Amino acid sequence: MERIRMKTPLVEMDGDEMTRVIWKWIREILLEPYIDLKTEYYDLGLENRNATDDRVTVESAEAALRYGVAVKCATITPNAARVKEYGLKEMWKSPNGTIRAIMDGTVFRAPILVDGIEPYIPTWKAPITIARHAYGDVYKNTEALVPKGGRAELVVTDAEGNETRKLIHDFSNSAGIVQGIHNLDASISSFARCAFRYAIDTKQSLWFAAKDTISKIYDHRFKDIWAEIYESEFKADFERLGIEYFYTLIDDAVARVVRSEGGFIWACKNYDGDVMSDMLATAYGSLAMMTSVLVSPTGAYEYEAAHGTVQRHYYKYLKGEETSTNSVATIYAWTGALRKRGELDGIPELPAFADRLEKACRETIESGVMTGDLWLLSKLPNKKKVNTRQFLEVVASRMG
Ligand code: NAP
Ligand code: MG
Repeated sequence: MERIRMKTPLVEMDGDEMTRVIWKWIREILLEPYIDLKTEYYDLGLENRNATDDRVTVESAEAALRYGVAVKCATITPNAARVKEYGLKEMWKSPNGTIRAIMDGTVFRAPILVDGIEPYIPTWKAPITIARHAYGDVYKNTEALVPKGGRAELVVTDAEGNETRKLIHDFSNSAGIVQGIHNLDASISSFARCAFRYAIDTKQSLWFAAKDTISKIYDHRFKDIWAEIYESEFKADFERLGIEYFYTLIDDAVARVVRSEGGFIWACKNYDGDVMSDMLATAYGSLAMMTSVLVSPTGAYEYEAAHGTVQRHYYKYLKGEETSTNSVATIYAWTGALRKRGELDGIPELPAFADRLEKACRETIESGVMTGDLWLLSKLPNKKKVNTRQFLEVVASRMG
């Protein structure tokens, strides 16, 4: 059989532990037999990040911006235990944080739905994609304890040195707490553009919510910037595609999401996105079935699985014990990247291959063959648990 030829390389970011093992097997069993894979390879495994003083992470993100499409394996974010385990020179920063900062992107997470693994919310028929604004608010806060008798003010000093003061609270009757948070027009605008672009790209309606009735300046600024950008840059495309931009209050959005059938993008402020993405991942079934894509405001894409390196399974694998690790989200990272590369380069065989491989994954699970995490959740009467490699081989056998 003739293998599919590529034009532009994918930026390939390799990673750590069990997902690094799976990465190699996916290439070998599911990709290389069908595609003459062209990639620019960056080894983001912790050892190589340490050896290159983490330059490899920066270079991979720059390449993602240059080429437009990247696929990333899960990577270890070092903590004190990892510094010791790997003898690191430094506690290197989270690669995802570094890549996100360079690409100035927004992360979109979407679950993969299969028959037999039912969402906890029975009305959800299609995936809800969640986008979290990953800058500012309570994640870059300044906080203080205020003793009884104290007074807290908000002071803003402009470029000329003029001060504006607003009383936050007079603590005459009780000690208390105070918190300062901020956000930036530039970051809110980037977030909005990424979300509008991704909605157009995936032809899904877009919801955004804040609490502008209570926060008349702060949250209202988000609402206004989104409305302005929608009107001036994206409205025509939305109308052409028959999709909707819908703004509402955050509490109303939560209520509507629960009653909905899914099939839209839900953009959230930083804290709402932190909380709601965990709620959605759990409600749809398994973290191992959650995909993730980072979209830059310039239209560069980085695809990955939402889960980590599955360390516990890796230690079993190293001891020669059998593992049953779910590779589906990592396979979808590859199919997402190959589909996008094919669309950009005008190679229709690549999106067609991506569709076929995704279908083979879903059909494998729907036929009852699955890894241990899904086996625990599945309602299928004939379900059978297979090991990590067997799952990939069964998917391959369905590819024909
Ligand atoms: P994790 O790798 O997501 O795994 C946590 C647990 O979830 C696993 O022990 C396993 O449960 C289950 N699980 C996750 N993915 C699975 C899969 N594909 N198949 C089957 N089960 C799966 O999180 P972690 O153990 O907290 O973190 C390990 C490393 O990953 C850390 O060093 C962290 O820094 C890194 N991390 C990286 C990323 C990223 O690169 N995007 C994201 C998160 C974490 P059982 O043990 O019960 O089977
Ligand atoms: Mg969270």
